[in-house]
Amino acid sequence: MQNILDLKRNDLFGKDKKPLIISGPCSAESEAQVIETARQLAVSNVKIFRAGIWKPRTRPDTFEGLGSAALPWIRRVKEETGMLTAIEVANVWHLKEALKYEVDIIWIGARTTANPFAVQELADGLRGLDIPVFIKNPINPEIELWIGAFERLNKAGIKKLAAIHRGFSYYGHSPYRNMPQWEIPIELKRRIPELPIITDPSHICGSRDLLFSISQTAMDLDFDGLFIESHYDPDSALSDKDQQITPDELRSLLAGLVHRKSEVDNTRQLEGLNEYRRQIDHWDSELLRVLKNRMSVSEEIGRYKKKENITILQTSRWSEILEDRLAKAKQLGMSDQFIIQIFKQIHQESISFQNKVMN
Ligand code: PEP
Ligand code: MN
Repeated sequence: MQNILDLKRNDLFGKDKKPLIISGPCSAESEAQVIETARQLAVSNVKIFRAGIWKPRTRPDTFEGLGSAALPWIRRVKEETGMLTAIEVANVWHLKEALKYEVDIIWIGARTTANPFAVQELADGLRGLDIPVFIKNPINPEIELWIGAFERLNKAGIKKLAAIHRGFSYYGHSPYRNMPQWEIPIELKRRIPELPIITDPSHICGSRDLLFSISQTAMDLDFDGLFIESHYDPDSALSDKDQQITPDELRSLLAGLVHRKSEVDNTRQLEGLNEYRRQIDHWDSELLRVLKNRMSVSEEIGRYKKKENITILQTSRWSEILEDRLAKAKQLGMSDQFIIQIFKQIHQESISFQNKVMN
């Protein structure tokens, strides 16, 4: 596959394959809060300290960050603890301020990534600098917009890029604040394999209870790091209070993670895996054959409907199909969400087959 981006190896992502850990409070609230949280983090594996200075808030009259006044505290963290620092910037003025205080990593937030004008302005502001830039996914589940942001930065000469996966907005009920939609970062990895991906369980979960399972999933997907918000006293936090944990809690969360190998390193494992892979290949071929047979029937029913002058879509029949398939799938232990998605796709394809023979 041709490389979309021209990337430079970033030493932040070690050869030892240890995940890169980023932490810090959602917002810098006071010098004491920043320094105390940083001191507690520095004794664990945290390599990068991130604190919000300018906070993009959904509603006004909520805490919007202290702005440049907090930047000297971030520099103090670096001097006193040796951790690197990262700051989210949303415009060129933020960027200049952050650079004045020798911030090590520039961070682009989800709302900014969704706006190509803003990303382009930041790219122009960064032109000629050799500084890592981490880009969060846009709030909407659109991979091209995310890739577009990397391309804009890369065209401006930024070669140390990384992606932050913070989940996607969703209207309706969900156990998450932002839906993880793992298929999107997985596709990003397929399209740009050399781009490191860091998962942000804090903004995916919005609460503390699911942080561990999202972090473990990220490790099992062989992603490259985690960003987890922490505060020395989370209950008093001025933003994202429900999802922040103490540095101690972070340490035990990290210690509980299981790190599995991404490479198969002996023939016994390879043979074991291959046996399962042969079975998967077999069932995938079966699936394709079954789908082909089903589509052939769709074509025939299309011809019949044409001859009899009947519309393609029969809404009551479609509802019946979905209900029946859901009930059967439930007995087989498959989730509603999976079956709805599959059958919607099959139905859509079946309609286009019928359309082809009708028109
Ligand atoms: C944040 O990182 O504190 C934040 C506002 O996150 P996001 O841009 O992912 O919503
Ligand atoms: Mn936050």
